[in-house]
Parts: sequence; structure tokens; C-alpha cells
Amino acid sequence: MIRYALVCDEAHEFESWFASAGAYDEQARRGFVTCPYCNSARVTKQIMAPNVARRDRDETPAPAPAAQPAQDVVLVDEKMAEVRAMVRALREKIMEATTDVGAAFPEEARKIHDGESEARPIRGQASFEEARALIEEGVEIMPIPPSPDERN
Ligand SMILES: [Zn+2]
Repeated sequence: MIRYALVCDEAHEFESWFASAGAYDEQARRGFVTCPYCNSARVTKQIMAPNVARRDRDETPAPAPAAQPAQDVVLVDEKMAEVRAMVRALREKIMEATTDVGAAFPEEARKIHDGESEARPIRGQASFEEARALIEEGVEIMPIPPSPDERN
């Protein structure tokens, strides 16, 4: 079964069921499809009102997607602010708890590890190769998270 929206030459709109598209064509050709309002046999298939349907679709969801990304942005910002605050606090704790030995870090860290230097928490700079060498020697080091306030 197939349902057609039909319109007569008097612009009466109605719907009718047909066994198939071919059955409609056959019945319409023979003048068997008539308007229930004026009995006119000059009936044509309505151009389905896509304008009406699309207008409905456009009107209803339009405000929703516009509002949602804005909320997402706010949530991300809040989350990032939280993460930034945590990283900042962690950095401050590391700075408070450690002595800055600067570029002497790899050497000093190795000395502390080997017991040649006083055991104390230190921080400083190490190149990627130096840091890897220290880790391979079993010196427990970890990277200090970069400051969230410094970009680039
Ligand atoms: Zn009619």
C-alpha cells in the first residue's frame, strides 16, 4: 500500500491509499481518482510540502545547538582552570620542598644517589639525555610539570 497526498483542480487536498504507484497511475488515468469534496477527477499528486516540514525542523532545534556548544566551552574552561590550579599548586609544592641546583642537577642528583652528597630534595635542569641516563642509573627523578601560566 502506498499513500498519496492528492490535490484536485479546486485545490482540495486529501489523501488516498493505493495498492501501488502503478495502481494510482492507472486509476488516475481512468478518472477513478476523484476529489472527495467536489468529485473532480482532475486530481494530481501533491508536491509533498517539504517547505512546511523543513520550516518546522528549522524552527525547533535551532536554539538548542546554539546554546549547547556555549555550555561546553564554559565547562572546559572550568575544568582547565581546575587543572591549571592543581598544576600550579603542585609546582609551588615542588619549589618549596626542593633546593634549586640549576644546571648542576644531573651531577648533584648522581652524587646524592651514590651517597657522595647530602641526601636532600633538589631540582634543576637536565637535558633529555641526562635525565634518561639518570633514570637508567636508578636515580629517581621526575619531570616538573610545566607551569600552566607559561605558554610556549
Ligand atoms: Zn476538489
